[in-house]
Amino acid sequence: EGFLPFEHEPYFNFKDAQVAERQRDAFTQVREKYLGQTFPLIVNGQEVQGEGTFAVRNPADTREIVWSFQKATPAQLDEAVKAAQAAFEEWRFTEPFQRATIFKRAAELLRARRMEFNAVMTLENGKNWFEADGEVAESVDHFEVFAREAMRWATGKPVYPMPDEHVTTVYEPLGVVACISPWNFPSAIPLGMALGALAAGNTVLWKPASETPLSSYLMIELLFEAGLPRGTVQFLTGTDDVLGDPLVDHPGVRMIAFTGSKEIGCRIYERAARVQPGQKWLKRVIAEMGGKDPTVVCADGDLEAAATGIVQAAFGYSGQKCSACSRVIVEESVYDDLLSRVVEKARGLKVGLPEENADLGPVITQGSAERIQTYVQEGQGRVRLLLGGETPDVGERVGGYVAPTILADVPADDALFQEEIFGPVLAFTKARDWQHAIELANDSEYGLTAAFYSRDPRKIDEARKKIHVGNLYVNRKCTGALSGTHAFGGYGMSGTNAKVGGPDYLFWFLQTKTIAQRY
Ligand code: GLU
Repeated sequence: EGFLPFEHEPYFNFKDAQVAERQRDAFTQVREKYLGQTFPLIVNGQEVQGEGTFAVRNPADTREIVWSFQKATPAQLDEAVKAAQAAFEEWRFTEPFQRATIFKRAAELLRARRMEFNAVMTLENGKNWFEADGEVAESVDHFEVFAREAMRWATGKPVYPMPDEHVTTVYEPLGVVACISPWNFPSAIPLGMALGALAAGNTVLWKPASETPLSSYLMIELLFEAGLPRGTVQFLTGTDDVLGDPLVDHPGVRMIAFTGSKEIGCRIYERAARVQPGQKWLKRVIAEMGGKDPTVVCADGDLEAAATGIVQAAFGYSGQKCSACSRVIVEESVYDDLLSRVVEKARGLKVGLPEENADLGPVITQGSAERIQTYVQEGQGRVRLLLGGETPDVGERVGGYVAPTILADVPADDALFQEEIFGPVLAFTKARDWQHAIELANDSEYGLTAAFYSRDPRKIDEARKKIHVGNLYVNRKCTGALSGTHAFGGYGMSGTNAKVGGPDYLFWFLQTKTIAQRY
């Protein structure tokens, strides 16, 4: 609609030595440019200091402080809400084409700096080159997709006519949207939520995870460079006692877009339901939370393809994705075969420095590594440990390194089958037959992603109807949703199913006005 046909941003080929060299250079440049710096808040278009700062550490070696950010004060939160409300009064009436043009320009600017953004992300959250590149490419896609979506929602929808009235249904923005985001996708997730809000004509309070604020800060600077009015996004970093509950409770906030853990998501959902003094609306909340995502493998499925997909989806970014495969449910007759293929492939993965593009880097913190190891240690007494369990040797480095871990014969009532571990831990479970496998896949409070491997159209048809998830992938891995194509969001306790990057996402950021006019 007014723009050239859409194409997903292609990934870099790091197997090409020259491309790899450029990525290595980008790390050197990022270190020269940003290391040791302290970054400001952005409130009302101004770069301001908070009250004190906090350090961001490189998870690959937590002795290294990479950069620091501000702790916002309660007064700055108030000021940011007011500034966002003021900016809303202009931004809401801008032409969708104008918004789209800004996003298109931002896409161009980001294309030129992808390797820099990759490097910053690696230093903040430990993604290797492939994973960081996938995410930054997804961010380019977001700009392109939301440019088109802004325009697609600009016109209303037709209604059933009546003879003596002209009736239109139009969509209008809501107001100030607080976007609260996690560290595991520090570029694409906050950007997706913020662009949803902005494309629809809202303004944004952008709260990054404290582990990964520079990925956000640079993205916001880039948006301003592309022409986004500076009041439309307020950038707030700091502590939970200012930006946790008080941000959610603030009477000036109209909507909260959250991605993160189930615990925090539920807390936000509950708190947002209370109408605060001075608040003139019911807050809207969209929340994307966890997953315990199954891969079902039928006896007639392509076991080799399944094994490859499982290893990528379970161990990519050390399993720290809500879309990660954490359960494999296999028909009895091929259970041992598939298990040995997966163990074999996973054994070949190297744990090491993400900056050197190791297959698995560290998990986000040492605390997280300990939590993951506790699951494994306690589980070992109950089920069969086939791979992992030991602490990988990464020399002098201090970080939460966890080896790829595979546990077999995990019963459905086990914590390893039911709880989201958020690490490189994969549980194998045997099913009597393929129908039983589908039942087991659905035995979860979550319902985010699932993969299903079979060649039989009848089984595939049943899986399509019965597997209770927001993202079902047939004969492919369950991670790596692409913006604009694989609308992402789950069922059940995985969240509100707002489906970022999907055809209806903007509706969540809009309200509908019916205008009936007589002449
Ligand atoms: N959208 C990502 C994917 O499809 C996952 C996002 C997340 O883990 O929060 O892999």
